[in-house]
Amino acid sequence: MPNISRDACLFEGLDSPEREDARRVGALYDLIPQGLGEGHCESLVSYLRRLAFAHGVSVDDLVIKVLSSYSSVDFAIWRHFSTWSRRSSINIYTPQRTVPLRDALLQATGVQSLGLLSFATLEGVIDLSRMSSAIERYCPMCDDSVPFDQVSHPMLWDLKMVSCCPVHAVRLVPNTCGKDISEHRSRWCRIHLPGVCVKCGALAYRCNRQPQLPATSTEMWIARQSAALIAAISGGERFSANSLREGIVSMASVVGGGYPFRAASQCGINKARLHDWIHGVRPIGYSPLLALVAAAGVDLLDVMRGAFEPKEVIGFRYSSCPRRKQTQASDELRQKIQTALDDPDCPSVTAVSALLGCDRSTLKKLYPLECSQLVVKWQSKRSSDTRKRRAEAFSEMSAIAETLRSAGKEITVRNVWIQSGVLAGKGSRYEAALRVERDKGREDL
Ligand SMILES: [Zn+2]
Ligand SMILES: [Zn+2]
Repeated sequence: MPNISRDACLFEGLDSPEREDARRVGALYDLIPQGLGEGHCESLVSYLRRLAFAHGVSVDDLVIKVLSSYSSVDFAIWRHFSTWSRRSSINIYTPQRTVPLRDALLQATGVQSLGLLSFATLEGVIDLSRMSSAIERYCPMCDDSVPFDQVSHPMLWDLKMVSCCPVHAVRLVPNTCGKDISEHRSRWCRIHLPGVCVKCGALAYRCNRQPQLPATSTEMWIARQSAALIAAISGGERFSANSLREGIVSMASVVGGGYPFRAASQCGINKARLHDWIHGVRPIGYSPLLALVAAAGVDLLDVMRGAFEPKEVIGFRYSSCPRRKQTQASDELRQKIQTALDDPDCPSVTAVSALLGCDRSTLKKLYPLECSQLVVKWQSKRSSDTRKRRAEAFSEMSAIAETLRSAGKEITVRNVWIQSGVLAGKGSRYEAALRVERDKGREDL
């Protein structure tokens, strides 16, 4: 149960004896992660959001003000963590982010099972890079069927390979807000709870009524295999790279009819890569592993455990990432950069390189002069834009101040906000304008 005395020292000075005491026992509530040992086990960021809600603080405050003291990593550089767009990669595994967040949470809450809320225990066993989905998705039926206090975001939905819910057999949908931008909440009033739309605050993403599409049998197979793997990981099971390697050799032999390397063409994977996986040069990726498992007609979890029996062959083939476009001729590239230089919108080097489909550093190496000209133009455009915005802020503020003065009200941040909805807080471009107007009011007195 939550302990009030622990809560009281949340934001106090770091060196106070109470704080030290709290650090030993774990200062935060010891919330138990949901769905441990199940396919729908919740993710690390889902846990973090629920923990912040339980303490009545924002996710940003919890991470920056409390968790920072439990880690050598400066969490302040993760500003706007709660709106960070790549949180699914934390939930799967990113060494620089998953590990510090997990360790800090573990120390702050004292809940040991937090270590099981990601794919971290599979590091070195399979290749964990590029496993997470680029966009956040959810099952439209899961949130409706779960009681409010048990809503969480499962790790399963963040796996790129998984495209449907294994329980409801419907496709996952991206949780983009369906409401008009005028109905969005300001950044500081957003609620960060699993199942709640960050943009408009709609419960169970009701703002987003996309059609429910049935999943195909292959999609369901992938979702079920992945859910079984997550159930094993979150249940505390450990796997060894060696037994998986042996499993790959056996599967490839089955698929290739006794010739392991023939499996490569059957599953759509690269032969050289298969050689590497068989000889333990590098760990196998999740997608080609599933392709091998499907072709051999076995269960992924059995393969990971090192013992499997053939069941039913699934028609799933691996398809590699699309190759980059062919490099363009240098004259053609120079011509395009010249066009970008003449563009009145002054695009940045990054924008130009994205447009040309080549890397930013390559572009800088090949055309240093043109790139430096692009940078100069872009910077001057930006600073003129900033000047323009600042001037607009000053004129807007003077109009607001005029209205407030005529109403006999004082010019304060609060009154300005109530009057016009402009937040002239610290660091905003209205801050200086407000100060000027306030000083003007004092001079008049
Ligand atoms: Zn579902
Ligand atoms: Zn919404």
